[in-house]
Amino acid sequence: MISSEIIKKNNCPSGVRLLCALTAGLFLLSACGKTEQKSANGADAPIESDFNASGFEYCHVTESEEGYYFWERMDQNHFYPRLMFMDKESGRVVPLCNKPDCGHDNEECNAYFPSVNVGGDGMSKDHIQYYDGSLYAVGFTSDDYVTLFRIKADGSEWETSTKLYRTDYASTGHWRTPDILIEDGYVYFNDRKQKKMKLVRVPIGGGAEEVLFEGDDDAVEVQIYRIKSSEDAVFFQAYIFSDESVEHAKGGLYQYDKTDGEYRLVKTELVQPYFVWNGCVYYGSSEGICCYSIQDGTVEILADQPIEVPYITLTKKYIILCDDMVDGYLIIYDYEGTQIAVVSCDLKPTWYFGGSSDLLFAECVRDNETRLCFLDLTRPVDELQWEELKAD
Ligand SMILES: [Zn+2]
Repeated sequence: MISSEIIKKNNCPSGVRLLCALTAGLFLLSACGKTEQKSANGADAPIESDFNASGFEYCHVTESEEGYYFWERMDQNHFYPRLMFMDKESGRVVPLCNKPDCGHDNEECNAYFPSVNVGGDGMSKDHIQYYDGSLYAVGFTSDDYVTLFRIKADGSEWETSTKLYRTDYASTGHWRTPDILIEDGYVYFNDRKQKKMKLVRVPIGGGAEEVLFEGDDDAVEVQIYRIKSSEDAVFFQAYIFSDESVEHAKGGLYQYDKTDGEYRLVKTELVQPYFVWNGCVYYGSSEGICCYSIQDGTVEILADQPIEVPYITLTKKYIILCDDMVDGYLIIYDYEGTQIAVVSCDLKPTWYFGGSSDLLFAECVRDNETRLCFLDLTRPVDELQWEELKAD
């Protein structure tokens, strides 16, 4: 289904400066292609040149060539969370608005987008993905569909892009944002309200729906989560329950091969956060940091310090474990498994948005309010310090 409806905002070209230049740059980006670079120890370290595949654990922050986009958190001063942009070069954080003389403090601002609401079109503020020169958000349309919206990279216009599935939100008032990955012209998603979830994809803009993965016929429940892209495959975790007991559940990490259209179970019982790179699945376990070779089926323990299910993220130089159970501290390793730093934080990070970028993002709490914060990983390890992500 394609909607031709375009919601224009009051767009005045004379006011475009930073963002217009920015947008021009964004559209020059290649839609795909992965490059690699040697890290200090000689190992290939991941660099994403297609930022749709940046591996953010939760899509609250998304990366383009020029910077990072994120939804602002609602607080006492911001009842209408804005879509924000952080410029990589300057480090400045600004609302995604190019209207001249805009105070960016009311609904007229281009950086404001309506929230999910019965009776209208609106966006959930817990997903944003940059893909092929545009931003994509998920929300609800007044005809009861969970819908992907396309937002121009300068924030000036938005439109319905792809209707995903019909929802009962209008009658129940219960909204759940699906897990979504936009990749290679498709939207991969699940319907998290279903007891038996399926991994499905549709072409961006609409078209025939393909079911890529579903549980056995006798399953009573199927959970699908952490849909990620890596090279020629889409990875996801699935757990299939044949009855109510966890003992009879089976599943783990799966791989959907985009070239042959087949899926296969990569590793059983892998339920914790993972990161796939260079043919290996990285994860933390009771044995330590593990690197599972997809081709050989072997596990290499990189560091034998036991870790209880932390978030794991790979950056250009580091393997980072984020333990939100213990005051949100990070343990930073190099690619040989040597621990090189522990970073604590008085901002109390809870959710991490990893990814293979130069910055690590997290949701933090200060003065009882939720905020976004970040760690600049380009700095020397002994100077790593969390900073709040907020507009100038
Ligand atoms: Zn504004």
